[in-house]
Amino acid sequence: MKDTLVFDVRYLRDGVFNEQEVDIPVTQINFELEEVQFISTVRGNVQLLRHGEVDVYVIAEVSTDIEMQCGKCLELFRTEINASFEVQFTPRKNTDQIEDEELDSGERYFDGETLDISDDTRKALILHIPIWPVCSQLCAGLCFQCGTNLNEEKCLCEETDESENKALEVHSPFAELEQMLESAKLDAESKTNKHKENSPKNGTPKT
Ligand SMILES: [Zn+2]
Ligand SMILES: [Zn+2]
Repeated sequence: MKDTLVFDVRYLRDGVFNEQEVDIPVTQINFELEEVQFISTVRGNVQLLRHGEVDVYVIAEVSTDIEMQCGKCLELFRTEINASFEVQFTPRKNTDQIEDEELDSGERYFDGETLDISDDTRKALILHIPIWPVCSQLCAGLCFQCGTNLNEEKCLCEETDESENKALEVHSPFAELEQMLESAKLDAESKTNKHKENSPKNGTPKT
């Protein structure tokens, strides 16, 4: 069992999958999200494959347990999130290559000896945090009128269709997270477009 997401790939043989179980202390992965507590290690399976003699292809499946607040009843609950990702690492030819070229393109550079998938793991797991978390499909939420947690007790307020619907509309503390993910996506898209513009083959744009 490996407890780091840094892999020494110097001895990886061409064309042979190297498979490793991982169990990583969550402190090694900087999640830094106020709304979500990471309450377990990050577990998973990582496969490394060298191909074309120099590139290393990584396939990873990871999961972890989180605690967050239900958007309906506002109680804390625990759930497991799972993510998988694939990324290809290419040896860095020129040390002056700009850092942000490595981001969000699905292709990364490495020093040819060790590669680190902490960042990829963090991003993949964050994308699987529920934007509208509910503790259970059956969560009854809070009474719109008196605030009673209807999972725990019935209140004396009149039950109307309107109040049941309103119970769903408690402000989500995750709006900020949702915005963050949205802007990360836009950012990735604009970078992809920039790359296309900057690299026309032979300088002649296709018609
Ligand atoms: Zn709930
Ligand atoms: Zn009530």
